[in-house]
Amino acid sequence: MSKKIQSALISVYYKDGLEPLVRLLHNEGVKLYSTGGTQTFIENLDIPVTAAEELTGYPSIFGGRVKTLHPAIMGGILYRRDDAGDVAQAQQYNIPAIDMVIVDLYPFEETLASGAGEEDIIEKIDIGGISLIRATAKNFKDTLIVSSRIQYAEVVELLTAKAGSTDLEDRRHYAGLAFSISSHYDGAINVFFTSGQEKTDKELFDFKSLSSQPLRYGENPHQNARYYGDLDGIFDKLHGKELSYNNLVDVDACVNLIDEFAGGDPTFAIIKHTNACGIATAATAKEAYDNALACDPVSAFGGVVITNVKVDLATAQELNKLFMEILIAPEYEDEALELLKSKKNRILLKRNQVDLPQIMFKTILNGVLVQDKDLSAEVASQFTTVTEKAPTANELTALEFALKVCKHTKSNTIVLAKENQLLASGTGQTSRVDALRQAIDKANAFGFDLNGAVMASDAFFPFPDCVEIAKLAGITSVVQPGGSIRDKDSIEYCNANGVSMVTTGIRHFKH
Ligand code: 5GP
Repeated sequence: MSKKIQSALISVYYKDGLEPLVRLLHNEGVKLYSTGGTQTFIENLDIPVTAAEELTGYPSIFGGRVKTLHPAIMGGILYRRDDAGDVAQAQQYNIPAIDMVIVDLYPFEETLASGAGEEDIIEKIDIGGISLIRATAKNFKDTLIVSSRIQYAEVVELLTAKAGSTDLEDRRHYAGLAFSISSHYDGAINVFFTSGQEKTDKELFDFKSLSSQPLRYGENPHQNARYYGDLDGIFDKLHGKELSYNNLVDVDACVNLIDEFAGGDPTFAIIKHTNACGIATAATAKEAYDNALACDPVSAFGGVVITNVKVDLATAQELNKLFMEILIAPEYEDEALELLKSKKNRILLKRNQVDLPQIMFKTILNGVLVQDKDLSAEVASQFTTVTEKAPTANELTALEFALKVCKHTKSNTIVLAKENQLLASGTGQTSRVDALRQAIDKANAFGFDLNGAVMASDAFFPFPDCVEIAKLAGITSVVQPGGSIRDKDSIEYCNANGVSMVTTGIRHFKH
């Protein structure tokens, strides 16, 4: 039901960004009530406002601990407008209706993060604000709650569009956000009292107690989103705009992939939609980047780039030619950084070494799936040769490399590689044959000679068709988990055609 707002109580900690909302309410003829500092702020705008004290008959007492906690305020919010008994009681006790409440809570988390002493932290536990939020959200049928400063601008938009009225769905939506904010707030207080500050795997189960930040939107503009976690702990943002939801998903994929090459030779990876469209290891950073880009320069456009080594000027000069969303590196030479900063929106991140959780979550149906991260990384010494022919030393290097990339590519996948360079992959296909065909087509399209290349498969081959197609394309060595009841069909084909195959016993599905 559409309701015109007649009265609003405003009590906010940070006043920034509040003015347009106050002006809008004033212009819509809304009667304003407010507390101490907020009241002064509104008066300074030359807008009439009534002190909460006038409603309660009490000043702000006990150092601000009690300002709005009073039946005249809580009652004005909570009484049911369609209940004759409630309405009569409101009249009996002279309690005016409060149709809208705007609160921005004491900054508990910021105070905690600032290293303040216990007394200061405790004083920053908001009591009245949280009660206002919960009361207004509870009575969403009649009232609208604005529960954080991050909502001001969108509420201005909403109320402008609806000329100072709201619909039931609007009020319910903001009630939902309010309980999410109050629950997060109490979660943070709970973590403080139980003093488990380290971000262990266990704490992820209670993710709402982690620090969080709003994202502009989710995977698509019509989806709301937040990030729960401490990004500042992992990255120093050296340049560029805010990370988006999709950026974060790609950054996560990048970090997981490059960690397979931690401490190794210079490696560059370029990620698009969580899959590597280029990755290479070489003697120098520049060579690694050049080889990674060569893999698929078309897909690299707008990608997220990561490296395991310091970015030097020579490499930065090449990187600067690419339109990329994000570059992540452990370090940058000063001149390299200056050059890369020349593009305004390009995000430059310096990665700090912090332990990341070892578990993963995914919502599904009416619950959550939790699993260990796929931390298995098989190296050549763990391969079992199942064909008459064994891979050469060069092929073994390429097989190891291809397998690392394969593990981080969406299933079904086939990865084709040659000596520390990805040539092409088939990503997220509904059959392994399709994945292989896609990889071969891509490699051909970018001018790679597949003779002597190797292939890695995320899972076993149920039929010999993949090795047949691979052999015809020039592939000479294969790594796969093995374990199909028809393994021998693929192995026999390899033996008859001079192809070597190794198995790992470990499947790497990634969905
Ligand atoms: P102001 O700057 O207007 O004096 O104070 C605004 C802040 O006070 C807001 O953050 C609001 O959440 C908080 N607040 C409002 N009422 C009460 C109350 O009764 N007790 C406490 N502790 N905080 C309150």
